[in-house]
Amino acid sequence: MFSVQAVVLESIRTLRVRDIEIAEKLGAHDVRVRIHTVGVCGSDVHYYQHGAIGPFVEREPMVLGHEAAGVVEAVGSAVTSLRVDDRVCMEPGVPDPNSRATRLGLYNLDPAMRFWATPPVHGCLRPTVVHPAAFTFRLPDNVSFSEGAITPVNIRDENLTELVRRATGGWGADVVFDAVGLLSSFTQAIEVLCPGGCVVLIGVPGAPVAFDVVAAQVKEARIETISATPMSIRARSPCSAAASSTCAH
Ligand SMILES: [Zn+2]
Repeated sequence: MFSVQAVVLESIRTLRVRDIEIAEKLGAHDVRVRIHTVGVCGSDVHYYQHGAIGPFVEREPMVLGHEAAGVVEAVGSAVTSLRVDDRVCMEPGVPDPNSRATRLGLYNLDPAMRFWATPPVHGCLRPTVVHPAAFTFRLPDNVSFSEGAITPVNIRDENLTELVRRATGGWGADVVFDAVGLLSSFTQAIEVLCPGGCVVLIGVPGAPVAFDVVAAQVKEARIETISATPMSIRARSPCSAAASSTCAH
């Protein structure tokens, strides 16, 4: 156990930056990462507002944050894939390597997953984290820390549909990942899609969503789904975990 300063959700709507005891030690297959940037996800906001997402209920103070990028400052003795000073981002959910889901190659569906900032697991809004090297990924030089941490773009400042149209010569995007899970984001995902494109639904709606089927049909859109975390299977929640390696709600 050691004490670090962290962003702690004490209880509903009570957030404090304070010292908290964390039990973490660098194993042979782990890296210690100095955190640079943490994105704030819909699930962090949901825990702040409601103290729970489905069956995951905050019963004790918990460090928030699960979308992070930083710099490796120590590597375990068996780690060969990463070095000190590597810029990295981390996958926030770590499955049991021996579980049935993991052995089937569906490790993101492992019911035993330990996911940052999902009670009782502390999140990463703190100076350093110890994380398995296997779930830590070097960032290419052209990817910033905030891109690695999936820091959101404010769509109030930019018109996403216009932006995608401009970038694709008016054709639309081949693949759109919706990581928000709102009716408005589903509508926009179809809107920015190219004819024959694919929408991947990752965001978790809080309730069934009635979306415009015809808008999808006229583009012959293919719709696929991804379960971000066990929490999205067991609970419908407005968590907006992100895609890619870092986060999936
Ligand atoms: Zn997230």
